[in-house]
Amino acid sequence: MRSMQIIKWGEPLELRESETPTPQGSEVLVRVDACGVCHSDLHIWKGFFDLGNDQKFQIEERGVHLPFTMGHEPAGTVIAAGSEAQGIETGKSYAIYPWINCGSCEPCQNGLTQICDAPKIIGTRVNGAYSDHVIVPHPKFLVDHSGISADLACTLACSGLTTFSAIRKIQPDRLTERDTVVVLGAGGLGLTSVRILKYMSKARIVVSELDAEKRAIAVQMGADLIVDPSRDSAAKDLKTAAQTDDGRGIAAILDFVGLPQTMEFGLSLLRKGGHHVHVGLFGGAYSMSLPPLAFRMLRVSGSYVGTLEEFRELVGLVQNGMDLSIPITNRPLDEAADALEDLQSGKVAGRLVLKP
Ligand SMILES: [Zn+2]
Ligand SMILES: [Zn+2]
Repeated sequence: MRSMQIIKWGEPLELRESETPTPQGSEVLVRVDACGVCHSDLHIWKGFFDLGNDQKFQIEERGVHLPFTMGHEPAGTVIAAGSEAQGIETGKSYAIYPWINCGSCEPCQNGLTQICDAPKIIGTRVNGAYSDHVIVPHPKFLVDHSGISADLACTLACSGLTTFSAIRKIQPDRLTERDTVVVLGAGGLGLTSVRILKYMSKARIVVSELDAEKRAIAVQMGADLIVDPSRDSAAKDLKTAAQTDDGRGIAAILDFVGLPQTMEFGLSLLRKGGHHVHVGLFGGAYSMSLPPLAFRMLRVSGSYVGTLEEFRELVGLVQNGMDLSIPITNRPLDEAADALEDLQSGKVAGRLVLKP
């Protein structure tokens, strides 16, 4: 099989050929139809996450060694299965849930399978789908995406799921047209969140984004208001807008950027009892004044990808008409290195999807 691999951290990916694996036991061999390029791939590619205060988390500490194949947003066609793999159809295309977990550790037992203590995540821990084939350890991680294109279905596995799970945490169905949700960042996740919020909630949706072009797309996606956070009056304008027409202020922040600046901006906007959901992985460190957290009863929580159940629910919602058709740019698998460069330089609006 052909895979675009990291040979040296941060250096352009290189094409490598290897023998296509034979699925054993419960394993399933999938021919990749599409694989999304995720922003977090940039961190994996570089080999570290910036934790702030000059601290870095090295990917190698997770036990990931080179050469390595990224790609944790795959959809593909089942071409072979081990003797214990039941309930799937050979020749059928499935979306793949990449957040493979053990099912028995403490977090898994508590329903937080996405932060399993012994994860075997496709494309971040084990070789992924920047390749023409990928092994999935069990058929339960394959989700029927009939009615949705592979290009769209694959992006649901990470960006879509991450967005959906974060939105579920703010209980969108309980928000009314008098409540405002502010989305920080109009990259792939932020734009997806606008669509999901539109479908699941009556709340007013505001998108805060530095880039004018991305702000314009957010409007097309259905944002009720957009704001340029670099403007001095941004916070004041936002709070005013959230109070007009009987508005009850800003109930929730969905931070898809994850910088100290966005944390500060988000917390400054929230109404009493508001909820800041931290999702983005840009990195950095942030210090804050603590008493307001109690006085204002603010809530700050982290959200990381989502569970298999949430993934099935999300795919089901899209199959039933929730429109998540964000702009998708296809690139041949062989151009994966260029695709990463483009993503890094901020040139990509919407999502990049590799095609083997
Ligand atoms: Zn991802
Ligand atoms: Zn586990």
